[in-house]
Amino acid sequence: MCSLKAFFTVASALGFLAAAPIRAETEDSTLQLPDTLIRLHMEDARFALPRESFEHWIRRSAHVVSHYYGKFPVAQMYIALIPVSGKGVKNGKAFAIDDATINVRVGTGADHQDLLDDWIMVHEMIHFALPRVPRRHHWIEEGLAVYVESVARSNAGDLAPKFVWAGFLKGMPHGLPANGDSGLDNTPTWGRTYWGGALFCLLADIEIRKRTDNRKSLRDGLQAIVHQGFSMLDEKPVEELFAIADAGTGTAVLTELYEHHRDTAHDVDLDGLWQSLGVQAAGTAVEFDTSAPLRHISESITARDPGF
Ligand SMILES: [Zn+2]
Repeated sequence: MCSLKAFFTVASALGFLAAAPIRAETEDSTLQLPDTLIRLHMEDARFALPRESFEHWIRRSAHVVSHYYGKFPVAQMYIALIPVSGKGVKNGKAFAIDDATINVRVGTGADHQDLLDDWIMVHEMIHFALPRVPRRHHWIEEGLAVYVESVARSNAGDLAPKFVWAGFLKGMPHGLPANGDSGLDNTPTWGRTYWGGALFCLLADIEIRKRTDNRKSLRDGLQAIVHQGFSMLDEKPVEELFAIADAGTGTAVLTELYEHHRDTAHDVDLDGLWQSLGVQAAGTAVEFDTSAPLRHISESITARDPGF
């Protein structure tokens, strides 16, 4: 699955584009979507696919993100596609220095399937939906992007639920604390940052749904942040963001979960969690157990939205 490939691509991307974003003097085309304007720069002649294929991929990714959040988090953004040798979408980075900017490195030989399989464009756009937080909370920035990318794409019908859960079964163990680890705020390893953050989001999503009879979810909390007009262009204390999101669900789940995991390493019984959710490993795939007590919750998390 995309997120399985992501484990290693994301890891190798950590040092990528750490400096200033790449921007051209002027954009080469402008894509107007219902709730955002995209200014795109790419050197067409370097890529095997025509510009229209990349525009379609970018529009679709923005549509998935808009749908999940109820609106696109920023009114306009600048995207630069940087050609590199090979196939596939390689890695990316979102910036919010002057305005919302995404740089993505794309293989010059990328084909239609590479763009259909890509998770990176959605991941980078999701970063726009959360205000910047102090560095020690980087795990929530990356964890949210990892978790929401899979969930939003399944809600849009772009990923099959079994594919997403297979990815969670494989990925979430990377987020468990290792020997000697501290809390999420003090353990900036790759596993705890990307998958520790994603596991935090999954636990929050489940707990919000349990406390609200499955009427509210993490999505409602995240939408509350975006609907107050906040984005990556803003800077906020993480406690304030969790309070806004908690108000959006009518619970205190994020605040409580953060208190629990911020300073101290706490193990999570993943086997017990998958069992209660009715998600069973079957080789590298998964099967669903419809009799499991929280199967209604795992089903809701990755259900395709009827209106999409
Ligand atoms: Zn990221």
